Amino acid sequence: MRVCLTGAVLALACAPSTSFRTSLRRARAMPPVTRLRALETPDVDVAGTAAPASAAGAAQSGGGKSVTIVGAGVGSLVSAALLAQDGYKVEIFEKNPEDQVGGRINQAVIEGCRFELGPSLLLLPDVYRKTFAACGLDLDEEMTIARVDPTYKAYFDDGTGFVLDPRDPDFKGNLEAIEAGSYEQYKKYMESAEINLEGGWPNFIEEKLTLDVLPKFIANALTPRNFPLLSHNQHLKQYFKTKKLNALFSFQDLYVGLSPYNAPAVFSLLTAIELSDGVYYPIGGFHQIPKALRRRCEELGVKFNFGAGVKKISVEGRAAAGVELDDGRSVESDLVIANPDLPFVEETMIPAEKKRHTENMEYSTPVVSFYFATDKRFDALGHHTICLSTDYERSWDDIVVEGKFPPNFNFYVHAPSRTDPSVIQRPGGEGDSIMVLVPTPPLPAGIDDAEKERISQEWYEQARAGVIKQFGKMPGMQDFEKHIVGEQVRTPADWGKLYNMNRGAVFGLSCKISQLSFLRPSPRHPNIDNLYFVGASTRPGNGVPLVMTGARLLHERIMREAPVDA
Ligand SMILES: Cc1cc2nc3c(=O)[nH]c(=O)nc-3n(C[C@H](O)[C@H](O)[C@H](O)COP(=O)(O)OP(=O)(O)OC[C@H]3O[C@@H](n4cnc5c(N)ncnc54)[C@H](O)[C@@H]3O)c2cc1C
Repeated sequence: MRVCLTGAVLALACAPSTSFRTSLRRARAMPPVTRLRALETPDVDVAGTAAPASAAGAAQSGGGKSVTIVGAGVGSLVSAALLAQDGYKVEIFEKNPEDQVGGRINQAVIEGCRFELGPSLLLLPDVYRKTFAACGLDLDEEMTIARVDPTYKAYFDDGTGFVLDPRDPDFKGNLEAIEAGSYEQYKKYMESAEINLEGGWPNFIEEKLTLDVLPKFIANALTPRNFPLLSHNQHLKQYFKTKKLNALFSFQDLYVGLSPYNAPAVFSLLTAIELSDGVYYPIGGFHQIPKALRRRCEELGVKFNFGAGVKKISVEGRAAAGVELDDGRSVESDLVIANPDLPFVEETMIPAEKKRHTENMEYSTPVVSFYFATDKRFDALGHHTICLSTDYERSWDDIVVEGKFPPNFNFYVHAPSRTDPSVIQRPGGEGDSIMVLVPTPPLPAGIDDAEKERISQEWYEQARAGVIKQFGKMPGMQDFEKHIVGEQVRTPADWGKLYNMNRGAVFGLSCKISQLSFLRPSPRHPNIDNLYFVGASTRPGNGVPLVMTGARLLHERIMREAPVDA
């Protein structure tokens, strides 16, 4: 009964206001655009049945320490499996319904087209393999991980297009056509990017002092053109003269919610990851990842409670003692791990006198995400397509410096049926599943929900018009709008409300230099014993491979600091 009530409260909290829905519908004629929320995804493939809520709490008789985990994102699931394997008694409380296991990793089916709602680029597959193996799973037995080919298609708003993949036979010629001599420069840039990856990953992401790669990393960093305090844009200017090439090798910063004009130069490692190691896709969809982890957790005895929001982290003296749920129940445990976005937890779930001050921290850029189901396939799009503004600097400055939605903007498009035909389940197999992510400024701090909705609505309308305009310049896409058979949208306000992310920042705290690596908030709370964090806004950072790595590091830390039977 209590769980149902919580569900009803959630449904109310998530229901958009009538006026907002009406204005959304007014924005275009047919078919109606719906706001995509946890409780409005009837086509989502739901596996398993809800484990009954355990009001008795996480502490159970016998065995090791009890751990309560708030949230069921990927950071939570990996931590839960690793700790349960070592004998901890783990119980998870997730505010959203069961189909939301995996948090931001989720999918929906709209008019017979399957969509990734969140992550779509599987980078660093070996990090997934290593994490699955640590949890007692074999990633390649669970699913097929396919390399995406070509890596990207890219279009500028002047109508020019480009295949961005060093394996493409025209790659060298295309670079040279934009800027003479640029292919040699590209090779040098990639050398430096790979040194950043080889040195940066073990030392600053996995936090393991790896001396053999450090001399090369430091020597590279000390050359003026690769100095790490340069912005990524300044760094690229040392290699390429044209804005187009600068844009082609820096748009990936969007994935960590940064502008290339404020991202540190070390983010060239993203280019190295994508263009050298490749971009992958799990055939059948990303949601298989949290589903497999959940199954493993349940095999290990982890208890799941869905529709069970946590209101507060209970603190007794200097230590966390459990959690208080939205429905008023209390759950006691020896340790608490918080998986919701860290600033939200600090600002709303922790006693004021103990919290870390996150008010002045910077957030990454949120996105308006569109999910277009069409009855026609658009071959101009690759599996991953990036659409870039030729007014590149302004397109970022407007968002990051001015805090306003730019007239010309860059955006990312995901059309996975090129790699995974099972995405399209429409009669005759004809159609496309097209997700579009448009970056926006973070929502202003301190505004109420109505204002968040109003601003989000404005950004949504501008973003949609700009996307349709750009598609109209791409080969065979002039009739795109006519072929839409289903359309849903998530605005920064929606994302913020659904997952409790401050200012709608879907990628969490920014990864600017002063919030990077050891400077990012620690996974161990400095003022409350036995309280730990896992997820995108703690160390090492945002993105599934980083969150998985953070969960593995957290497990090692807990084993050291709070051994299971001590
Ligand atoms: C649109 C989009 C595209 C992305 N693309 C990529 C990509 O291509 N590749 C990539 O690697 N990464 C990508 N990411 C980033 C990636 O999704 C995240 O870094 C990662 O999934 C975060 O996992 P997490 O465990 O930190 O948090 P989350 O997934 O946010 O999990 C936290 C959970 O806590 C729950 N919660 C919140 N508050 C409470 C409460 N009070 N009580 C109980 N539960 C609560 C939330 O509902 C949620 O389920 C993308 C993200 C988005 C949004």
